[in-house]
Amino acid sequence: MLIGVPREIKNHEYRVSLTAAGVHELVMAGHDVLVEHEAGTGAGVPDEAYRAAGARIATTAEEVWARAEMIVKVKEPLPAEYERMRPGQILFTYLHLAADADLTRAVLDSGTTAIAYETVQRADRQLPLLAPMSAIAGRLATQVAAYHLMKPLGGMGLLMGGVPGTREANVVVIGGGVVGEQAALMARGLHANVTVMDVDLARLSQIATVHDGNILTRYSTRLDVADQLAGADVVIGSVLIPGKRAPKLVTDDMVAAMRPGAVLVDVAIDQGGCFEGSRPTTHAEPTYTVHDTTYYCVANMPGSVPVTATAALSSATLPYVLRLAGNGWQQAMRDDPALALGLNAHAGSLTHAGVGEAHDIDT
Ligand code: NAD
Repeated sequence: MLIGVPREIKNHEYRVSLTAAGVHELVMAGHDVLVEHEAGTGAGVPDEAYRAAGARIATTAEEVWARAEMIVKVKEPLPAEYERMRPGQILFTYLHLAADADLTRAVLDSGTTAIAYETVQRADRQLPLLAPMSAIAGRLATQVAAYHLMKPLGGMGLLMGGVPGTREANVVVIGGGVVGEQAALMARGLHANVTVMDVDLARLSQIATVHDGNILTRYSTRLDVADQLAGADVVIGSVLIPGKRAPKLVTDDMVAAMRPGAVLVDVAIDQGGCFEGSRPTTHAEPTYTVHDTTYYCVANMPGSVPVTATAALSSATLPYVLRLAGNGWQQAMRDDPALALGLNAHAGSLTHAGVGEAHDIDT
């Protein structure tokens, strides 16, 4: 199969869908890969590396879209790309159709076979193509919190792990899923005191066991959250109720009672945020002040580390790309129900119940 890798055109998007190693695996499996000129530059993958891995380099996006049988991307198509989608071609990327009526219409009008990373779901409910980005956001959350605790950044001037004889930061993580566990792991690695809160007792039990008691756990009720925040230097919000807006678990009153210079990172901001005072920010201006505390609410945190994010995404998607290209999409989906859940649209019809519900369109 001829697989196309276009350059991402979204503002400040530096990731690319496949690394040179991923391309090499596809070429070894007998496929052809066409990569747009400079598609990987922002992620540290020059055209030369793709060529050495066996890809051909296309000068324009038009050429990639026109020739490829399957387009593998990172972000959803933007309006400039709408007319490039076509019937008989597979589009494999993050799509988030439920949130975008115009894109959904464009996908349906084009007749493309659209497979969305974010709806590929295993029987254990895990989202294997979203998890790598959550893991990155979780690790970054602790990193940015440690940075913004510093006095010149508006923080209270506390070193997250302290030094012997001084106190460490108290880090409270609300939501112990993929983001939360990785944030906790990094904070613990920096020698902070870490408490993870969740409403899923099995999940808390798992975290307590895996981390051998080094990460404390608390059941998440409003009163427990308020109690934890009173002694917290850092709060990381990482709750998710699938398909819904994040619940506002941290109120302005709780924040007003916190230590001045505390840092609150709302990773759940892409679902509306779980702190009352949260509003989306960008990498250019990531923080703002609420009651003498610093809020960090960047909605695309992994975008700041395109080298890591590209490698993590490419490794997660590669097995699926190999199966889609090797067996054809219909057979690949018959073989793997998780991948079948990724199919959002085909030949002008919506095929995903959740997306259909969001737009009141029959599937
Ligand atoms: P996940 O499903 O793995 O974990 C969410 C956890 O929240 C679950 O363990 C769940 O039990 C828990 N939870 C639900 N209600 C709760 C409550 N009231 N109190 C405490 N815990 C509660 O999800 P995830 O992959 O860790 O993602 C978390 C959030 O981070 C999502 O909104 C996701 O979209 C977002 N995210 C943001 C970025 C970014 O760049 N800002 C990047 C990746 C993920």
